[in-house]
Amino acid sequence: MKAVRMIQVGQPLQLQEIPVPAVGDSDILVRVRAAGICHSDVHYRAGKSPVRPLPMTLGHEVAGVVEQVGRDVTRVKAGDRVCLHYNITCGECYYCSTGNEQFCGKGLMLGHYANGGYAEYIAVPARNAVALPDEIRFEEGATLMCASATAFHALRKSRLKAGETAAVFGAGGLGMSAIQLARACGALDVFAVDINEEKLQLATYYGAIPVNARQVAPVAEIRRLTNGKGVDVALELIGLPQTMRQTVQCLGVMGRAVIAGIGDRPLEIDTYRELLGNEVEIIGSNDHLFQELPVLIELARRKVLDTSRIVTRVVPLEADAINRTLDALEQFGSDVRTVIVP
Ligand SMILES: [Zn+2]
Ligand SMILES: [Zn+2]
Repeated sequence: MKAVRMIQVGQPLQLQEIPVPAVGDSDILVRVRAAGICHSDVHYRAGKSPVRPLPMTLGHEVAGVVEQVGRDVTRVKAGDRVCLHYNITCGECYYCSTGNEQFCGKGLMLGHYANGGYAEYIAVPARNAVALPDEIRFEEGATLMCASATAFHALRKSRLKAGETAAVFGAGGLGMSAIQLARACGALDVFAVDINEEKLQLATYYGAIPVNARQVAPVAEIRRLTNGKGVDVALELIGLPQTMRQTVQCLGVMGRAVIAGIGDRPLEIDTYRELLGNEVEIIGSNDHLFQELPVLIELARRKVLDTSRIVTRVVPLEADAINRTLDALEQFGSDVRTVIVP
């Protein structure tokens, strides 16, 4: 089969002809119908986050049709439409058995530590499959598995309740999902903070109140728009110390800031005025849980979550087209989601 693979750090991905993967007793073989090209893949190719072993087929946002099932598999059958949870976990350790499998010490992320979806076929444990209803396109199903799932998990960590207000820092792929999901949770007002006017327009389409941080100071603006109160929940989806700080500063009394943007620099806050004085909480959020995916898919099926304007470009399973997409993501931080359709 054809697979577009990372052979060497910092080098373009290459198309290789490799055997269709073997299917173990508890595995399924999936014919890939869509594989999302994610910003993380740019980091992998550049060596910012090590991929092993090499060569490795990238791609952790995968949707397709079950082609073959192992002897012990009963939960899916050949012909089923599925999306794949990208964390392959042991299912038995303390974290797996308590519903927090993203901390599994034996976890292998697809397209990072196990061959991913930039290929014609992929084999995964059957329990990584989530049913994909006919109403959702494969392209959207694929990207639900990463950006939307991460936003959903962050929002759940925030404990946002109906009648509260929220601010979303970063109106990208995660942000567009976060805005819609926050509104679905009953948030009265959702403020979208970004510096890109086009992204803010799309955020507005999805029901957010835009705050252009290039034109106004976002914290003061959010205070002004909430009559001085601040928001109950703020999500940081960018990963910069400055926006992390703003996420905390725009909170009202007993507000919750959830940091989901990845960064490695310290976060500095005024501990009295910005933290304990208002009893605010700063919460970390990473990845997502398998149990969140069926709910997310149902929200998409009901059109509560609409990703049709986010997933807009399709490329074939060819090294050139994929490398060009990764180059564009690297240079412009383009927001348009590109999906490989083999
Ligand atoms: Zn991703
Ligand atoms: Zn485990």
